[in-house]
Amino acid sequence: MRIVKQEVAARNTGWSSQIARGQILRLSARTIIDFVAFDASDYRDCFDQALTKEANRCIYLKRGHSMVSRSGQRLLVMVADGFEGLGTHDMQFGMCSRARHERSAAEGRLAEYLHADLKVPTHGCAENLTSACKPWGIPYVDIPSPVNLFQNMVIDQATGGMRRTQVRPDAPVDIDLVAETDLLVAFSACPDKASRTGGLEVGATILQP
Ligand SMILES: [Zn+2]
Repeated sequence: MRIVKQEVAARNTGWSSQIARGQILRLSARTIIDFVAFDASDYRDCFDQALTKEANRCIYLKRGHSMVSRSGQRLLVMVADGFEGLGTHDMQFGMCSRARHERSAAEGRLAEYLHADLKVPTHGCAENLTSACKPWGIPYVDIPSPVNLFQNMVIDQATGGMRRTQVRPDAPVDIDLVAETDLLVAFSACPDKASRTGGLEVGATILQP
């Protein structure tokens, strides 16, 4: 496969790119990635958590699953998942943000992030995705709730309770997503407060088969 683009997003930054139908986006990481996608011809037709869960009949995004848009269009298919067998990718939560971290602190709930001793980040995934989408004219309010790659959650069926875990790959692993149509894709390398690392860099490679 030919490498079209190969970049690294630093810890707690955003990244975005156009990707053509048939190309593969390879994300290499051992940290949480908040990932979104938009139809390149109509940014309003963006990733939709609920329709994706319904299409896959699963609350996690797994190998073989599709990421579905608001109109029900297949945007991407996950064809490889280096996290398989270790943990799952979350589709319940939204994005962390400076405002959310401050609210958690005010409510005395920072301990839910497991490492309350870590300094509250000055910004988070909401700010990172906002800056990543800005060049494309997409404001924060039009960015959908993401798929949270590598965000492994324990979800209690009886109570509906959700708990963060520190389950992450020990070393960077690859997730391969095939574009089913021409897309704009964007992600944030999360300042993962549930992990001792406090977030790490993310490799992004676009491959032409
Ligand atoms: Zn985040």
